[in-house]
Amino acid sequence: MDRRIAAAAAAAAVLLALLWAAGGRPSGEPGPGEVGSVPSARITILVDNNPGAPGLRTAWGFSALVEAGDLVILFDGGPSPETLRENAEALGVDLSEVDLVVLSHCHGDHAGGLSLLREVNPGATVYAPPGAGVEGLPVVECRSPARLGPGVVTTGPMYGPPWEQGLVVNVTGVGAVLITGCAHPGVDSMAERAAELTGSRVAVVLGGFHLGGASEQRLEQIARVLESLGAELVVPVHCSGDRARAFVSERMPGAYAGLGVGGRVEVSALEISVSP
Ligand SMILES: [Zn+2]
Ligand SMILES: [Zn+2]
Repeated sequence: MDRRIAAAAAAAAVLLALLWAAGGRPSGEPGPGEVGSVPSARITILVDNNPGAPGLRTAWGFSALVEAGDLVILFDGGPSPETLRENAEALGVDLSEVDLVVLSHCHGDHAGGLSLLREVNPGATVYAPPGAGVEGLPVVECRSPARLGPGVVTTGPMYGPPWEQGLVVNVTGVGAVLITGCAHPGVDSMAERAAELTGSRVAVVLGGFHLGGASEQRLEQIARVLESLGAELVVPVHCSGDRARAFVSERMPGAYAGLGVGGRVEVSALEISVSP
């Protein structure tokens, strides 16, 4: 390479690095367009306090199996290993085939069931927010958004309290799918983060929204943000609260789905389908 071109390239690299740093993006954090995408995603609710199909146990807490392209992810574990084991068996889910675990936050109704993995899948790495206190499994403490595979990224810890992260799957031709545990930081803020990370609309939001005590104004604010981000399917489960579920079903009737344990959402460019 010509020396002047080499010098110019080096200067450009330094400039880019400075711009990157000025953007406040921690090193290793994926920038917009770097997340990639998967052709399809499937979410199966393994544990929820909202009832579903007969034969599935309800318990206060949340856990979901997220299949994103080739990656099989356990998102949270519900409150106890027994509930997780029983429901996974009833739904034909083999937890030994889980590639990795994402823990949304430290609360026992999400972390308690993960001890089952020590028995059935002890090599599975748990991607957890700081201070989640997971024991007996390999843990990666996430301090910023982590890219777990093509099209799959965590939001990085956001403060509720406690520190909580959501899981984002970017589906080709559809947009982002956001899965939340309790959404203590606000489901609207987490959806905004998902949009920033993927550079896409947020087509699907599923999980606990923690809106039991929320005012009508707050519910309206959330509906507006989800609408503006392009939400096509909104599934408030777990700690969302009956009032919030009713609000979303009336305010966003075309987007709302009321699921419980065993509920399933499949997302691809062909269709977004929901089964109870
Ligand atoms: Zn919870
Ligand atoms: Zn919680």
